[in-house]
Amino acid sequence: MAEIKTILQKCYDEHRNTLTEYESKLVLKEIGIPITRQELVDANEAAVLTAAKKIGYPVVAKLMVEDISHKSDVGAVKLNIKNETDLKAAVKELMAIKTQSKAPKISVQEMAKAPITEIIIGMTTDAQFGPALMFGIGGILVELMKDVSFRIAPITKFDAEEMIHDIKGFPLLDGFRGKKKANIQKIVDTLMAISKFVLDYPEVDQMDLNPVFTYEDGVLAVDARIILKTHA
Ligand code: ADP
Ligand code: MG
Repeated sequence: MAEIKTILQKCYDEHRNTLTEYESKLVLKEIGIPITRQELVDANEAAVLTAAKKIGYPVVAKLMVEDISHKSDVGAVKLNIKNETDLKAAVKELMAIKTQSKAPKISVQEMAKAPITEIIIGMTTDAQFGPALMFGIGGILVELMKDVSFRIAPITKFDAEEMIHDIKGFPLLDGFRGKKKANIQKIVDTLMAISKFVLDYPEVDQMDLNPVFTYEDGVLAVDARIILKTHA
């Protein structure tokens, strides 16, 4: 897991606590959680076009700078870009976004296919109990209904299964109204991987996988944010 240490250390070296989405997803990949294919390049048209060719259209382009973590709030996420012409326009818009960053980057990603349901997996550090894991259905169910479940890490496989079944929105993962069934086992694996990771790396303060796309055959992390504790 040399890779993980390197990513976390780079963050501390640059005096920041928040890993970019690109870095956060590299960490997820290292712990066995599937992520969208992604290429990080300097924010210039030529570099982005080359990256898109490598990924294959349709692509997603997102501005990766340290001072923007809620990207879509400022228009920093461009979805379903189908060709070079549209990509050039998207790059222009991304480069017009205000940022303090001296070296803005762009993450070019595969456009993930529509999920059965979007889920959210999170971790926060409780002052008394330590790392607490959170699970919920993405979108308005979490924001409006607070339909989430919590467990203190480490969790067992049984705990993970309970977390998933506990939420009111569970039928959305379980073939509601003729929808396909999401792969619950892969969601369990994801929760277990996060649980192990946060115990192995106590410098991690918060995690936010939002969203993770669920499918019949697995899961795919589409956006992620990892926040480190301030260096002691
Ligand atoms: P934010 O920082 O605003 O949370 P996200 O990276 O989560 O930005 O992107 C916003 C939304 O765009 C996501 O909730 C998801 O629905 C969609 N999205 C983001 N990346 C991809 C991708 N690679 N493929 C398909 N959809 C995506
Ligand atoms: Mg997000």
